[in-house]
Amino acid sequence: MNIATRLNSALSVRDQFPAIAGWHYLDSAATAQKPQAVIDAITNAYGRDYATVHRGVYERSAAMTQSFEAARDAAAALIGGQADELIFTRGATEAINLIAARFANGMRKRVLLSALEHHSNIVPWQLAGYAIDVVPLTDDGRIDLDAAERMANESHAILSFAHVSNVLGSILDAKRAAAIAHKVGAKLLLDGCQAAPRLKIDVVDLDCDFYVYSGHKLYGPTGIGCLWGRSELLNAMTPYQGGGAMIDQVTFEKTSFLDAPARFEAGTPHIVGAIGLHAAIDWTQDIGLDALHAHETALVGECRAALRSIPGVTLFGPEDSAGIVSFGVDGVHPHDIGTILDDERVAVRAGHHCAQPLMEVLGVPATARASFAAHSDASDIEALVQGLHTVKRIFG
Ligand code: PMP
Repeated sequence: MNIATRLNSALSVRDQFPAIAGWHYLDSAATAQKPQAVIDAITNAYGRDYATVHRGVYERSAAMTQSFEAARDAAAALIGGQADELIFTRGATEAINLIAARFANGMRKRVLLSALEHHSNIVPWQLAGYAIDVVPLTDDGRIDLDAAERMANESHAILSFAHVSNVLGSILDAKRAAAIAHKVGAKLLLDGCQAAPRLKIDVVDLDCDFYVYSGHKLYGPTGIGCLWGRSELLNAMTPYQGGGAMIDQVTFEKTSFLDAPARFEAGTPHIVGAIGLHAAIDWTQDIGLDALHAHETALVGECRAALRSIPGVTLFGPEDSAGIVSFGVDGVHPHDIGTILDDERVAVRAGHHCAQPLMEVLGVPATARASFAAHSDASDIEALVQGLHTVKRIFG
């Protein structure tokens, strides 16, 4: 039985993605392709409806303000949060930088991260002057929460973990991580870049304190991301940037600030980015995150089985990874794998995936990574397998 016959979870949305025609796009973890509904929403927002938000007294601006705030409602609701707790940022990177720069937990100057974090969940803490403790991984590539429990202590301001690893696809037991953090008076930040497009999320149920994600990985535009935080934490933080839209009163002597979210959104926001993100969220929710997760889980299972049958292929990460399969081929640099696959119209990512410390743990300089999305199907896995046979022939 071939993969297509076994895989009965096709979502049949492929022809809604104009950019993937004739191509096997397996790099959605880097950035997702956009469905036509998102492209249309962006086109209309610039082409038909465009005006500024918040300040306009004319009708078009009032309508744009409504659309912008409706996007905030949707971005918060996607993860089970409230709109007044949802700050638009440029992306997850800016969101984590904001928290690292402005969140304070008394005099605590250490953070607890894990060995699989993306650079954007490492470097901001260094820049903000925190000392970092690193939770190791289990043998199958999960954040070792038994070790986290032993390591967490009252010197830690915050525990900050990827909800889903961008390299291994491993899913964090976020509720347990929250309990570990709260037991020592620390907060929990979840980097949801890879989780938001793949899992149904409820920040209240997870009991986390901050949650961040990027629009462009969720079928939306680049340049827009979300920071959700508990109101009391956000309003205790001083603003990150100053300017228009975030103030209450300004004099040359003193300025008072609005509460979140305006407090952290200085300047004209990425209006069209938010509207495009809203369209992406609606599109994703029409499919349903449970259906998306089931679809990607089936693809990962088939992909891992197919790659395992090719001699010399090493797989990284757990069997139940979310939408992401990292692998290597004995004696071949992942960049060569990526280049040869590209010749066969298969796009994978090859490199350290902005997770150099994880590469050290895995003992490799880089991996090749195939990542799936709603439009992925059996033909993508079959093309990947064919391409890897070509790699083996060339390097034979
Ligand atoms: N964290 C994770 C787990 C990621 O996968 C990424 C993007 N590769 C980021 C953070 C950074 O996201 P962005 O570049 O969109 O800010």
